[in-house]
Amino acid sequence: MKVLKFGGTSVANAHNIMKVVALLEKCKERKVVVISALKGVTDALNEAINKSQSHNDKYEIILKELYQKHCDVIVQVIPEKNQEAILEKVESCFRQIDNLLKGSFYLGELSPKKKDFILAFGEILSSRIVYEKLKSEKQKVAYWDAQELIVTNSNFGNAEVNFELTDYSIQYYFERCQADIIIAPGFIAKDQNGNITTLGRGGSDYTAAIIAAALDADQLEIWTDVSGMYTANPKIVKQAKPIDHILYREAMELSHFGAKVLYAPTIQPVLNKNIPVQIKNTFEPEAIGTLINNKKNDSINPVKGISHIGDITLITVEGSGLIGVYGVSKRLFGAIAKEKINIILITQASSEHSICIAVSENDSLKAKAAIDEEFKYEIKQQKIKPSLVENDQCIIAVVGENMKNHQGLSGKIFSTLGKNNINIRAIAQGASERNISSVIDKKDVKKALNCLHEKFFEGNIKQLNLFIAGVGNVGSKFIEQIQQQKRYLKDNLKINIRVIAVCNSKTMIFDQDGIDLNNWENLLKGGEMACIDSFLSKVEELNLRNSIFIDNTADNQIASVYQHFLKQNVAVVTCNKIACSSDYENYVQLKNLSLKYGAPFLFETNVGAGLPIINTLKNLIVSGDKVNKIQAVLSGSLNFIFNHFCADYSFHDIVKQAGNEGYTEPDPKIDLSGIDVMRKILILIRESGYQMEIDQIHNESFLPKEVLEAESINDFFKALEENEAHFKKLFLEASSKNCRLKYVAEFENGKAKVGLQLIEKEHPFYNLEGKDNIVLFHTDRYAEQPLLIKGAGAGAAVTASGIFADVIRIANI
Ligand code: ADP
Ligand code: ASP
Ligand code: MG
Repeated sequence: MKVLKFGGTSVANAHNIMKVVALLEKCKERKVVVISALKGVTDALNEAINKSQSHNDKYEIILKELYQKHCDVIVQVIPEKNQEAILEKVESCFRQIDNLLKGSFYLGELSPKKKDFILAFGEILSSRIVYEKLKSEKQKVAYWDAQELIVTNSNFGNAEVNFELTDYSIQYYFERCQADIIIAPGFIAKDQNGNITTLGRGGSDYTAAIIAAALDADQLEIWTDVSGMYTANPKIVKQAKPIDHILYREAMELSHFGAKVLYAPTIQPVLNKNIPVQIKNTFEPEAIGTLINNKKNDSINPVKGISHIGDITLITVEGSGLIGVYGVSKRLFGAIAKEKINIILITQASSEHSICIAVSENDSLKAKAAIDEEFKYEIKQQKIKPSLVENDQCIIAVVGENMKNHQGLSGKIFSTLGKNNINIRAIAQGASERNISSVIDKKDVKKALNCLHEKFFEGNIKQLNLFIAGVGNVGSKFIEQIQQQKRYLKDNLKINIRVIAVCNSKTMIFDQDGIDLNNWENLLKGGEMACIDSFLSKVEELNLRNSIFIDNTADNQIASVYQHFLKQNVAVVTCNKIACSSDYENYVQLKNLSLKYGAPFLFETNVGAGLPIINTLKNLIVSGDKVNKIQAVLSGSLNFIFNHFCADYSFHDIVKQAGNEGYTEPDPKIDLSGIDVMRKILILIRESGYQMEIDQIHNESFLPKEVLEAESINDFFKALEENEAHFKKLFLEASSKNCRLKYVAEFENGKAKVGLQLIEKEHPFYNLEGKDNIVLFHTDRYAEQPLLIKGAGAGAAVTASGIFADVIRIANI
C-alpha cells in the first residue's frame, strides 16, 4: 500500500482537485491520501487571527472570502445532490471560527490552543471536499479524522508526536477499514486532553510520513507543484534542476535548511522504516520527480543541493568571562531551550572568547532577553557583554553526502561568495561534512544561491549580466556582436551572456531574465525615462552575480558613476576615456576600488579602439619591464583626415566624411583640437606607471584660433570652411618636403606632447594607412627596436570588438 499527500496548490481550486481525483483513479493500489488545506487558506486564517488580535475588523472580510472560496469549490466539484452536507459543514466551521475571532477582536488576544483549533479548519474542509467528491463517484472510500489518530503533546503550533499511541491507533483503524482509498487531513492532531494541535507549517507532509511509517507502506508520495526536490529553490535559481535521486540524510539537510518542498521532520519516520519517498508534480505527473531513499549512488557531483533559510538573526555572546569557564555553553543553550527556541546554527571561536548562534528572526527578542537574563550577573561584572543581536541575515547550506570525500569544497564555496563580494558572517560545518553552512546578509541571498549554483551545477557555464549604457555607433554594434556570438560563446567558452539593461540618453529598459536582443530597439523606445540615479539603484537592487556595466558613451556624467558600480562589485568596461584621463586621484581611486571590491575595471578601447595596446602594456609592466619612451599616432580620425586630405579635397569635407563614417567623436573638435589624443597618451603614461595630469601635456594645436574657439559643432564646421587656406598651406608645406602630416603623441623623460608633425619617408609612421593607429613602446627590454602595435584604431566594429574582448576577459577571471 501507498501513502500519498497532495499539497495546497494541488487542491487550490476545482480544476486542480479534478486532477488529483484523476490521479487517484489511475493508482490502483490501496492507499491513504493526505490532503493539505486549499492553497493560501492556512496563511489567510493566520492573517485573520492576527488582525482580530490587533482589533482590526478586516478579519471579517478575510473570513467571508475564505467561506466563499470553499463554497465555490464545492459547487464546482461535487454534484448538486451531494452538496448539502458538506456545505453545512463549511457553514458550521466558519461560524465557529467567527465566534472565536469575535472574542479575540474584543480581548485582543487568542490562546495558542484556540489558534490551532482555527487553523485546523483548512485541512478539515479540504479533505472533506476530496472525500465527498470521491464518494459521489462511487469509489470505495473512507474518511479518517487524522486528528483523532495522531497524538501529540500540547505544544500548540508545533506539537511533538507520541509515536507509540499514534502508531497503534493508525494500525488499529487501518486493519478494520475495508476501503480502497482512505482520505485524511494533514497538519492536524490532538493532544492527550483532546485539544486540537498542529504539526508546524508545512506539516501535512509529516502527517503522511507518520501514517506511512505506522503502516509500513511500500512508498510515500508527496505530490506538489514542482517536479521534485531541486538543486536549489527553482523560484530563486532559474537554472535549478530536479534531483533524480537523493539520500534521506541529504534531503533532511536540504529541507531543514529551507527547501520547503519537503517539511523537515517528514524524513525521520520513513527513514527508520526505510520507506522510499517519491516527490511528484501533480501538474506534470509524467516527470520522474525525486526519489529519496538510502541507496548510495556514485554521483560525480559531491554537492546535491543548495538551500537557504531567510529571516535569521545572529546572536553573539562575547567576553573574557567565557574563556575556559566550565558550563557556559550549557547555560546558554539551556536558557534558549527553556524558551522553546530552536537554534539553527552554532559557531564558537576556538579562543572561546565568543559564541555565536543563529535563530529565527521571530525568536530574536525572546532569545536575547533569555541570554541576558541568564548571564545578568556576569554582564553586571562586565565579564560578558550584553548579547549582540544582528537581524536581516540568512543561512546558505551546501549539502551532499559525498562532500566529505572531496577536498577543497569549502574553499570553492567561500571563494565563490568572496568573488561576488558576499561577506560571510559565520560558518558551520558538521563533522559529517554533509553540510557547509554560511551566514550572509539577507540582501545577498539571491546572488549567493545563483553563484553557488553556477559553480556546482551549471557545467562551468558562467553567466554574465550586462548593463549597457549608450547605443550609438559603438553600442549598437556591440549588441549586434553579442547577438551573433551568443551561441558560440555558450557552446565553446561556456559563457552565457544576458543583457539585463540598456539605456541611452532618453530611455532605459531592464529585464532580469535578459532583454530580447532581436527587439531591443523597439523595447528601448518604449522604456522608462532614463535617469542615472534610478539606473544605479536598479543595478544595486537586482544584485546579480557577474554583473558588468558597459559604458559606450562619451558622457561625463556616466564616467562619474563608475565608482558606485565598482563598490557594488559590478565590473566596469568602458570605451569612454573621460574617467581614466580625469584627475590622477580619480584614476587611482577607480583602480583601488576595483581591487578592493574584486570588480574588474577594463578600458582597452580607450586607446587604439580594439587594438591590444593597454593589455600589452599591462603585461610589460607586471612582468617587470619599464617604459622609457612612447611614440604614437593615436587618433584614427586625425589619421583618416590627414591621409585623405590632399589638393583635390577641402579639409572641411574630409572632416565631415570622417564623422559620417564614425571615425570621430560625436563632437569632432575633441579630435581635431588634440584633446582626444592627449587623453589617450595620458592613459598610456599612467598605465606605464607614471603620475601625470592632462594639463602637463604640451599641445601645439594646428587649428586656427577661430576654429578652436567655435562654440557649437555648426560653428566649428563653418570655421573650418573659412580657414581652408590655412589647411591647404599645411598640406603643401609637407608635400614640398616629401613628408606626410601625422598627428603624433610622444612621451619621454617624464614629458609628454601632442601635435602635428612632418613625417619623413623612412619613419614607421609614414605609411600609416586610413584610420590606423600605431604605438611604439621603447622599454628596457625593447631597447633596440621598440615594441610596435599597429592596426585599425577607430570605427564602431573594432571598438565594439575591443569591448567584447574586455567582457570575455572578465568572464575568464
Ligand atoms: P505544497 O503546498 O505542495 O506542500 P510547498 O509550497 O510547501 O508545496 O512546497 C513546494 C515549493 O517549495 C515549490 O513551489 C518551491 O517554490 C519551494 N521550494 C523551495 N526550495 C525548493 C527546492 N529545493 N526544490 C523544490 N522546491 C523548492
Ligand atoms: N496547511 C498547512 C500549511 O500551510 C500545512 C501544509 O500545507 O502542509 O502550513
Ligand atoms: Mg508543503
